[in-house]
Amino acid sequence: MKDTSQLRQKKMLADHFGRLARAEETGEKSVYTFVPGNLTELILSFDLLPVLPEINALQSGMRGKSREYIAVAERLGHSEDVCTYVKSDIGMMKSGNVGPTGERLPAPSLLLLSYTGCFTFLKWFELLKEEYHCPIVMLHVPYQGDGKITESMRSYVVEQLRRKVIPLMEEVSGRAYDEDRLKEALALSAKAEDDLVWVLESAKNRPSPIDAYFGAVYYIGPMFSAFRGTQGAVDYYQSLRSEIEQRVVERRGPLTPDGELENERYRVVVEGPPNWTSFREFWKMFADEGAVVVASTYTKVGGVYDTGFRHDPEHPLESLADYCMGCYTNLSLPQRVSMLARYVTDYRADGFLINSIKSCNSFSAGQLHILREVENRVGRPGGFIESDLVDPRYFSASNIKNRLESYFQMIEQKRSGGASA
Ligand code: SF4
Repeated sequence: MKDTSQLRQKKMLADHFGRLARAEETGEKSVYTFVPGNLTELILSFDLLPVLPEINALQSGMRGKSREYIAVAERLGHSEDVCTYVKSDIGMMKSGNVGPTGERLPAPSLLLLSYTGCFTFLKWFELLKEEYHCPIVMLHVPYQGDGKITESMRSYVVEQLRRKVIPLMEEVSGRAYDEDRLKEALALSAKAEDDLVWVLESAKNRPSPIDAYFGAVYYIGPMFSAFRGTQGAVDYYQSLRSEIEQRVVERRGPLTPDGELENERYRVVVEGPPNWTSFREFWKMFADEGAVVVASTYTKVGGVYDTGFRHDPEHPLESLADYCMGCYTNLSLPQRVSMLARYVTDYRADGFLINSIKSCNSFSAGQLHILREVENRVGRPGGFIESDLVDPRYFSASNIKNRLESYFQMIEQKRSGGASA
């Protein structure tokens, strides 16, 4: 039987995609935008509906559709090296734009490019711009090159919100900017963010009641997509939290594709997104070894909340700016190294693994350096595996399984004081 939180999330998604499917009849307008740096509260305050292309691409991967969509994009001339989220999205659009629930997605009324660290975001929206003849606006989010957010960076983003983004949203929606409404939404965001952080940090328990990578992909869903700033998200995270609180009390392990994990043998931290085309098979490779992911950087791509940031209704636009600048995709390499090292220590992990994504040039660059640096800092073994987001041609189950088995053996040897790799 499904948990209350799962049922809630399912219904939220069904309602949202239902509204999108009916948008052409009802006249509701949609905004295509990215997960990192999304301005969901602002979008919703104009009664616009968010559509997140990366979520559609990963869902296409999970539903076994991305292979054909990628083939469509490659036939149109998109090279093999292009990010497979982009090709899956373009292929989906060219094949009728049918979204994750099997219903058609509306064409966007606005393309809102929040630029947070990945150059592909720009190229992706250039392609969408050629396809859809709607207004486009770019929010340029300064990269955290020096590892901090300065007042001038913040005001640079706020100015763009005031002068470019909000006026265009007013024009597209036909509604005036309502700051009180935005503030109400931000207060709801902060509540849900508290509960999400509690859930992710529950993995500090032994045994961990959650898998903070595979399982947490579902937990971050509402927060990273169309629901931040809604009562629905607050209710979802409250029910999720109480379910996980119960698991902690009962000292139960996380749910896996084969049911509850009863014997936690290894605790690991993971860097990089999961593979979506063989998601369950990939997860099972960990679960079969008794390995639980206790923290991951992927669950921070749509916002880093475990260092204390919360959306702040008292400073609405400033806090949207800080949110955008603080997303994982916008962090410098030293910040990413520190985050991983902190996770390994705080979550008492046996080590950490990097899942390097073939087609994600933005984030795969520097991962070998990250591997060495984190190993040096924490003195615990790092492992390296390679796969792809949604291109099944780059998921080699036997290679990944072998590497994982050797990695867990290495941890075992270290524990027994034996030779290390
Ligand atoms: S961050 Fe990686 S996966 Fe995301 S759009 Fe950029 S290249 Fe693609």
